[in-house]
Amino acid sequence: MSGVGSFTQRRQDAKMVRDVERDGISLYKLGDATHREVGETRDGVFVERDGISLYILGEGERQELEQTRGVVFNVQRMSMHDGPGVRTNVFLKGCPLHCGWCANPESQELQPELMLRGGQCIDCGQFAEPCAACMPAWQATRRRSASQQEEIDARIHVCPTGALSWVGAWRTAGDVMAQVRRDRPFYGDGGGLTLTGGEPTMQPAFCAALLRLARDEGIATAMETCGHTQWEVLAQLLPLLDVLLFDVKHIDPAVHREHTGLDNALILANLRRVAQLPGPKVVVRVPVIPGFNADAASLAAIAAFVLELARPAASIDLLPYHTFGKAKYDALGRDYPWAEQPRLPAAEVRRLAAQVTEQVAPAGIAVRVGG
Ligand code: SF4
Ligand code: SF4
Repeated sequence: MSGVGSFTQRRQDAKMVRDVERDGISLYKLGDATHREVGETRDGVFVERDGISLYILGEGERQELEQTRGVVFNVQRMSMHDGPGVRTNVFLKGCPLHCGWCANPESQELQPELMLRGGQCIDCGQFAEPCAACMPAWQATRRRSASQQEEIDARIHVCPTGALSWVGAWRTAGDVMAQVRRDRPFYGDGGGLTLTGGEPTMQPAFCAALLRLARDEGIATAMETCGHTQWEVLAQLLPLLDVLLFDVKHIDPAVHREHTGLDNALILANLRRVAQLPGPKVVVRVPVIPGFNADAASLAAIAAFVLELARPAASIDLLPYHTFGKAKYDALGRDYPWAEQPRLPAAEVRRLAAQVTEQVAPAGIAVRVGG
């Protein structure tokens, strides 16, 4: 998608070929590729090539999309994870699952949350009651009174160490895209925007706005999903994606429910349906968690499921468990259910990866550790 040119240039290009028709279909030459018109947006057009759609937005539409709001808790620039090449990873809040090992517990609630990083608090003495003493009461309620909210904001404002903060903020898609655009010179051919979280599809309008704006600017797109989302929501986002990073955690519904809070029926059904479509490229991601699925039988069952999909996955990425999220549980005042689990030895990760490779390599599916 890179090298597609500026919006104005593309619009001119599009106009130049607007009257070109083949078999009654209007064709648009954007960059080096010819796209076919599949519909009109309010004041632009909607074109498609190989199952991937691109919006040539009208200015009014663009402004409207830029005003769409969502809750974001991080924008990670220049990342080499979560998609091909250099990525700008936008982390959206909200997740329907509550995995015991979750490395981003601050992603699970849809609303902004209060965090107190105890290690950074110097008990500055500015307040009669230190923040740590007030914290349980602040975190116990989601409906804070105006005065409580004011008190918290005032403390965040004067906290000398940044120990007290909100995680997650309402932002517009235009504001996020301005940040994303700064990485654009580094994307090369493969890099681009990745929506992750949390579960991005919990904020479908915001996802669609970000992806359409990225597509309009010729920025390649990826999205990570836990798969537990209404098919209709996922289906409307798929044509806006170059890559879908689809997490599969366990094939046994009871084990899945026990450790994530929900069974996997919707997740597996959604992945089957995605694979029946021509695009986008699907990468299956498996967090490899000791005490949950880091064993030969669990991974063999996942590999067998992937092999049965109508369209082969581009790869299976094994993501070994780590404990980097532990401090965040403390900061949120929550227990970390997986705190006592040791990390997997590297040799065990290699052994499991070799086993999955043996199973799926004949079908041309690569296995990677990390991703
Ligand atoms: S699906 Fe991902 S973000 Fe959601 S709870 Fe599980 S690990 Fe955390
Ligand atoms: S304002 Fe900051 S440093 Fe002072 S008590 Fe609160 S969290 Fe600690």
